[in-house]
Amino acid sequence: MSTPGALTGRVAVVTGASSGIGEATARRLCADGASVALVARRTDRVEAVAAELGADGGTARAYTADVTDADGTAAVLERVVADLGGIDVLVNNAGTAIHGDAASADLADWRLMVDVNVMGVLQTTHAAISHLVAAAAGEHGVADVVTVSSASGRRVPNSRNNVYAATKHAVGAFSEALRRELGPQHVRVGLVEPGFVATELTADLEFGELDALAADDVADAVAWMVTRPRRTAVNGILVRPIEQDS
Ligand code: NDP
Repeated sequence: MSTPGALTGRVAVVTGASSGIGEATARRLCADGASVALVARRTDRVEAVAAELGADGGTARAYTADVTDADGTAAVLERVVADLGGIDVLVNNAGTAIHGDAASADLADWRLMVDVNVMGVLQTTHAAISHLVAAAAGEHGVADVVTVSSASGRRVPNSRNNVYAATKHAVGAFSEALRRELGPQHVRVGLVEPGFVATELTADLEFGELDALAADDVADAVAWMVTRPRRTAVNGILVRPIEQDS
């Protein structure tokens, strides 16, 4: 459920906002009053969502970026700051997943997951830090980095989840270090760790009888984290379908 006005005056950047959890999060943060920058490679998709949010009275802009391109992503964040006035909330959501046995794996698939899920998060966060610190020193007194990790960032659910789980463990470690570094400057740093969510990413997976989460369920968790009182840092939310046993 949205909390209209809770994020009025804030600027939120959501990576991977062209579908799934990122799109749902962008919609939700906009409904809560944030000006939202939707970032992804599929320009038509982010433009369509931004146009829809704008038609509904929200402030939303679309930006094209590949998070594996550090310079391109940094340039987009500078444009966001110029267009919208700063960055109060960064949601590192862009990600990809390729599962399979290690023995038969294509190294290019592993490299892609590391590039998007790890380097993408590191590079986007690095480019945003000075803006987040500046936002936290301003009117609202707080800023947020939320990274969409995974339940696979806590424990490895099966052998075929190898490198995906490794990438999500990596961003968990980075997030904890960043929390320690930026907490004193009132930049909150946290993870959302979903279990199975029905999105394009999992379209090929058989959930069986499992009632998977909806992208909106994860967007709820992100929105709840970034609308807490300034003194309160929610550093992690593990959210799984009630019947998921992995
Ligand atoms: P989707 O495939 O629907 O969304 C992935 C998003 O990431 C898309 O918007 C895609 O946009 C974007 N993206 C992928 N690669 C890049 C890139 N190189 N640069 C910029 N954007 C990129 O899947 P989900 O919504 O499920 O995934 C979102 C996040 O949630 C991921 O980090 C995933 O690991 C995590 N997650 C998902 C779970 C699930 O069960 N679905 C469970 C746990 C975590 P575009 O292609 O337009 O660039």
